[in-house]
Amino acid sequence: MLSALEQFAPLPLQESWDNAGLQLGLTEAEVSGALLCLDVNEQIIDEAIRKDCNLVVSHHPLLFKGLKQITDADYVQRTVIRALKHDIVVVSMHTNMDNARGGVNWKIAERLGATVLNAPADGERQPLVLARLAEPLAAADFIALVKERFHVACAQCNELLQRPVQTVAICGGAGDFLLDEAVAQHADAFITGEMHYHQYFGYEQRIQICVIGHYQSEQYTSQLFRDVIRQECPGVRTEIAETNTNPILYI
Ligand SMILES: [Zn+2]
Repeated sequence: MLSALEQFAPLPLQESWDNAGLQLGLTEAEVSGALLCLDVNEQIIDEAIRKDCNLVVSHHPLLFKGLKQITDADYVQRTVIRALKHDIVVVSMHTNMDNARGGVNWKIAERLGATVLNAPADGERQPLVLARLAEPLAAADFIALVKERFHVACAQCNELLQRPVQTVAICGGAGDFLLDEAVAQHADAFITGEMHYHQYFGYEQRIQICVIGHYQSEQYTSQLFRDVIRQECPGVRTEIAETNTNPILYI
């Protein structure tokens, strides 16, 4: 199971600061069911228990840096305790999934009905996906499409582009560092999860920035996990988490 996921998104594709891979638990346990999610917290572990899943596959790692103690001091430590108490294994597929062929950004392109234009060679990272929409769209229509497909009430955009949008550069999550690369690749639009205020300046009529929220941009990663597991381990029951772990509320 772990090897099926790692075959799809090999761990060497992850960024140097990342900590993707097995987070906790015993590798020899037989999988009773896999709960698929973006983030791991206590509510997710509770859902795994309720649904008799002894494996949690998340996008964001539960553990980023070493724990010097495992107490009830914070949610990460409490989540570790709860998972171990219930023999739940946690695996995270993070930037290796972002950078993989067919990964997180490909899923975003698929949701837009767009065709991916660039594919990485074996073992190569692909942090930015370029995709082509079936039809060129006016910028306002493009933004409306993105909002509808990703269930976003409000996207953060720069001035509306006056030329049609057809080639879209995509980086789910915190993809702000790829904005200039998107411009260099002659994309009409750039979709990502989050950007800082000052980064919006100076791109008017160069590229349509469309920022839809970190969680929203990556929400279909659970479906991607399901697709891989169904393909490679058809006997394993998968459940897409119902717990919404987005810590940001839009009020
Ligand atoms: Zn993310």
